[in-house]
Amino acid sequence: MRVELVTVGDELLLGDTVNGNAAWLGRRLAEAGVEVTRSVVVGDLLAEIVEAVTAALGRADAVIVTGGLGPTYDDLTRDALAAAAGVPLVLDKDLERRLRDRVAAAGRTLVPMALRMAEVPEGARVLPNPVGSAPGLRVKLPGGVAYALPGVPREMRAIMTGTVLPELRAAISGTPAVRRILRTAGVWESELADRLAPVEALEGVRLAYLPDPAEVRVRITATGPDAEALAGRAERMARELLGPAVYGEDADTLDRVVHRLLAERSATVATAESLTGGLLGAELTAMPGSSATYAGGVVAYATRLKHELLGVPRELLDAEGAVHPDVAAAMAAGVRDRLGATYGLAVTGVAGPEPQDGRPVGTVYIAVAGPGCDPRVTAPDLPVPSDAAAARAPVRRMTVVH
Ligand code: ATP
Ligand code: MG
Repeated sequence: MRVELVTVGDELLLGDTVNGNAAWLGRRLAEAGVEVTRSVVVGDLLAEIVEAVTAALGRADAVIVTGGLGPTYDDLTRDALAAAAGVPLVLDKDLERRLRDRVAAAGRTLVPMALRMAEVPEGARVLPNPVGSAPGLRVKLPGGVAYALPGVPREMRAIMTGTVLPELRAAISGTPAVRRILRTAGVWESELADRLAPVEALEGVRLAYLPDPAEVRVRITATGPDAEALAGRAERMARELLGPAVYGEDADTLDRVVHRLLAERSATVATAESLTGGLLGAELTAMPGSSATYAGGVVAYATRLKHELLGVPRELLDAEGAVHPDVAAAMAAGVRDRLGATYGLAVTGVAGPEPQDGRPVGTVYIAVAGPGCDPRVTAPDLPVPSDAAAARAPVRRMTVVH
């Protein structure tokens, strides 16, 4: 089942109100296995709403409209649905009575304009609003079903949860979409997409890439009668194609996974940081219980401290500067040795905005020293923002993730 969203209100277009309704609806519908295929915002104009609803139902099975159900003359969703259905608005006696009761209970008199909230497009079903006075509406239109809900988030959510979501779930039972999320780090979005082309080619599978500054979540959506098995197959393929770039599933975070892997081996790690200034240590101590796997760290920001605290040879620093693979390796070995940890992890590089020792912003060396082997150094190819002034935070963050 494909659903489109139409959120109505000048305040959304003007940026006075953040479109929280669309975000909430998108999340809830996805959780329910409903595919949201488009979301548009329109102002408080009759013709715009009619056009948006009609176009949505030309593509999707249902449309959910929020906003514009209040009593004032700029609340036009009711009128728009009636116009789209080609039916008149009629007064719903039940709604009228309830409205009069509510107003009387509050000790006020009903202004005529408020009666607009008791009008419904002929043939529409009223969706009860347990927390406010404007009810929702369900209207059958030529292309499908339109649900109209109040713009007030609390009321919209109550009607969705009470009526609309159960109805949509029942309509798709048997063929819900199945979603899996894989968390990846260290590989660019475009390269992930390239490697995952064979998964994308599977009939009934779609992939989406959700990048954070430094990590990419890959969402696998499988649809069809055997969606569960298809999603499983797609996930296995993706894991095989991406190898160690996949570090976990949706609920995992990088620090938890690192902690778990170390704990399984009864191992500890110590950090030696230059450009990240302690961010790596902060990440590794974010979760409770990290003392079992994190020994400690040295922030050796000044070049001289790389020698004095970590034992990086002075000649090396003099000859190559602080940003060099051999410096990273020596930092890792030094911190492992001095802090007595199973692994030493070191980072040195150029966060910007200025290049350093002739090396461009985004040059980063990461070294790991472990038992019984020489330190391993990698130089990740970071997608550095072209604006060097804006590069500092992302480069530091990306270094931590790598
Ligand atoms: P009511 O029936 O209560 O009058 P309504 O259907 O007329 O509601 P609106 O007048 O469009 O709805 O909006 C009511 C309130 O809800 C406003 O404060 C508005 O900022 C907020 N609101 C409307 N649409 C959204 C949205 N898409 N996301 C978040 N808030 C919204
Ligand atoms: Mg409005």
